Amino acid sequence: MNLSKQKVVMPTVDPQIRIKNFEEVSLGYDTDDAILEANRCLECKHKPCVAACPVGIDIPGFIHQIKAGKFEKAYQLILRDSVLPAVCGRVCPQEVQCESVCVRSIKGEAVAIGRLERFAADMHYLKDNNLEENSIKKNKIKVAIAGSGPAGLSCASQLLNLGYDVTIYESLHEAGGVLVYGIPEFRLPKSVVKQEIEQSIKQGATLKTSMIIGQTLYIDELFEQGFEAVFLGTGAGLPKFLNIKGEGLNGVYSANEFLTRINLMKAYNEEQATPIYKGEIVGIVGGGNVAIDSARSALRLGAKEVHLIYRRSLEELPARSEEVEHAIEEGIIFDILTHPVEIMGDEKGFVKKIKCIKMELGEKDSSGRRRPSAIKDSEFEMNLDVLVVAIGTTPNPLISQNTEQLKINNWGGLIVEKDTGLTTKEYVYAGGDVVTGSATVILAMGAGKKAANAIDQKLKIKHKNI
Ligand code: FAD
Ligand code: SF4
Repeated sequence: MNLSKQKVVMPTVDPQIRIKNFEEVSLGYDTDDAILEANRCLECKHKPCVAACPVGIDIPGFIHQIKAGKFEKAYQLILRDSVLPAVCGRVCPQEVQCESVCVRSIKGEAVAIGRLERFAADMHYLKDNNLEENSIKKNKIKVAIAGSGPAGLSCASQLLNLGYDVTIYESLHEAGGVLVYGIPEFRLPKSVVKQEIEQSIKQGATLKTSMIIGQTLYIDELFEQGFEAVFLGTGAGLPKFLNIKGEGLNGVYSANEFLTRINLMKAYNEEQATPIYKGEIVGIVGGGNVAIDSARSALRLGAKEVHLIYRRSLEELPARSEEVEHAIEEGIIFDILTHPVEIMGDEKGFVKKIKCIKMELGEKDSSGRRRPSAIKDSEFEMNLDVLVVAIGTTPNPLISQNTEQLKINNWGGLIVEKDTGLTTKEYVYAGGDVVTGSATVILAMGAGKKAANAIDQKLKIKHKNI
């Protein structure tokens, strides 16, 4: 037993070196560190960490295997409940999920569950023969999935395990959703995402890219083609804007566009043709993971100063705490309790400065965070040459507009039954960001898995217990 109150430290690249490139910042545990950290786990009988994991991973079980040096067994145990352990080990907000209830956190830091999950997955992928075929008996019933992000992949994997014939339709030319076009390389290397997606596809799913469900192919056409159920895991890719004067100026980006150019289109690589305004002074509006990722990306593109402009205080920042710490180490300037009210440009139409107003916090709102309100006569101006708006996203209305019976709520989320993910259209299920709005990888995966089980129940009844 390791009685240390602190987690074993995970090495990271020095901030002054890492801000000059897009390589991964956190380096992961080596074998000795992983076993040392695993030995902090008490293997509690009541397993509070498992209950707090949205996909119910057997956490003490896999940590037990790491303690015993059986790393592949640890990985296989995680894989029973999660198709993306190398991804989740890196990006899950463990501090508000499994680690938040870890018994070790009562008198010190929680067990580093995420780091251990990442370790087990990374060890698996180090092996040569890492793509395993699925030997499950097929039932020949076809299910279509729209979207290849965490929700779609998790739904696909669960359906494949249950014997279904699964086809995933993805509108982009590459699978992975936000994992490939949103979260930057320095936090989640695309090679890691690729190997986990390949592993899921190798289970037996057919992947069809550059196919927009609701446009290239309508949902009713999928049923006509013999699919018996459809799962929509199409995410929330439509950016919200500030709706203030000057938002159309050159150099003003939505975070979606900014990060897609950088991640999917590799704008940071001089050999790629993707254009991007780099900016010497860059402002990012927002305080979530998307805002922090945009800020750290702007720094790596060569900005001299990056300001994160956030209308609440540091305590309310919704971003993952490790990313906030890394951003502070890297020199991102946090302009808290500040909100832009106007964007100003030069005679050529390029952004030159913004006008902001100072904010103060009042009572808690429905999100449980204190509501910000503007302080009268507190406006001030800030010079900058790129502004990135990262204040949230909503689902693209394409599918709901083009599919009869599919109903959405007042902010554009698909309406589904809580326990099954069934939409208002028979045999059509949905989960992930398209239902909840922008949330987390693991919640999207949990929703995909839940819908897969519900689809299985429904189709079993239809086919009289196939
Ligand atoms: P997505 O990942 O958005 O995948 C949806 C897929 O559907 C996409 O590939 C899209 O191209 C495709 N699609 C859309 N419309 C159609 C259509 N009509 N037909 C076919 N395909 C379609 N979460 C964390 O847990 N930790 C983090 O650190 C974190 N950081 C983030 C950083 C950024 C920059 C962003 C943007 C998000 C971050 N998130 C993070 C949130 C997390 O990535 C999402 O909650 C998660 O990816 C949602 O999964 P999803 O499968 O519902 O949707
Ligand atoms: Fe281990 Fe913490 Fe889970 Fe207990 S709560 S089993 S100590 S990880």
